[in-house]
Amino acid sequence: MTIETARGQHITIHFDARRCVHSRNCVLGNPKVFVPNVEGEWLHPDAASAEEVEAIIRN
Ligand code: SF4
Repeated sequence: MTIETARGQHITIHFDARRCVHSRNCVLGNPKVFVPNVEGEWLHPDAASAEEVEAIIRN
């Protein structure tokens, strides 16, 4: 499966590995939401406000 889904209280993150270009904008934007270099769950949508998570994703 290439799409991972992480549901938070106020926002849901979908990660499509086929579209990832490894720019690291996500982990540099907030490494508590997009945790780099971990085994298992790396998406934590509740670690920041929904507005911040949305802004990082749109960027
Ligand atoms: S921001 Fe993160 S998920 Fe999006 S393309 Fe860059 S490395 Fe991949």
